[in-house]
Amino acid sequence: MAQRRVVVAIDGPAGAGKSSVAKRLAQRLGFTYLDTGAMYRAVALWALRQGIETSDRHRMEQLALAADIQLQDGKIFLNGEDVSDTIRTAEVSGGASQGAAIPGVRRAMVAKQRAIAERTSVVMEGRDIGTVVFPDADIKIYLDANPEERVRRRLHEEYSKGLTPDAAAVSQQMEERDRRDSTRSDSPLVQAPDAVYLDTTRLNLEEVEEAILKIVRARITNGKVLN
Ligand code: C5P
Repeated sequence: MAQRRVVVAIDGPAGAGKSSVAKRLAQRLGFTYLDTGAMYRAVALWALRQGIETSDRHRMEQLALAADIQLQDGKIFLNGEDVSDTIRTAEVSGGASQGAAIPGVRRAMVAKQRAIAERTSVVMEGRDIGTVVFPDADIKIYLDANPEERVRRRLHEEYSKGLTPDAAAVSQQMEERDRRDSTRSDSPLVQAPDAVYLDTTRLNLEEVEEAILKIVRARITNGKVLN
């Protein structure tokens, strides 16, 4: 039994509830929360602002390498600017998914993600955390929910921000993004063979949190990982 940093990897499609639950888990465990999707979003935002096509391999890789991306207390900073809200538009979601299919962009982001987790225990959420970023993560969870429920959650999020989303458009964009994320050749969204599959369709946030905490506690006692 060795005391060392712990990695909790949470992967799954859009709207499965990864961010909400990962944030709460990190707080409960005293770990650092890392939203890797926000990093791909930040690169896409920068590209859109510069008028760069998010499918332009060469320029997107350059941006990803040059971007100063900092994650602090659940906020994300791009080159010193707090872009936590700006990265949540449909345009940025689509651009992030396009950029994330570019191997050079992924290499740059994965290097940043690994560097952060070298220093501290983390709850890291994304699409490839348990498969590529940390194939040896201590705990791997694959969060899922049926497509209708995932769209419903995304719409609810938009309403709670005072927006009036077009349900059909949200559903179509989510479907398109999941298709692209699961079929790209570099690090597609797939469940790691050793990940625990959790269908959250009929669970509320507290229930999902408790289910994952149970799995984490079965592997960790008194801050020690059971190998
Ligand atoms: O999780 P979120 O919806 O914010 O992610 C935005 C996009 O970033 C995803 O659609 C996906 O294309 C990409 N992504 C990724 N790998 C990750 C996290 C996000 O490819 N680990």
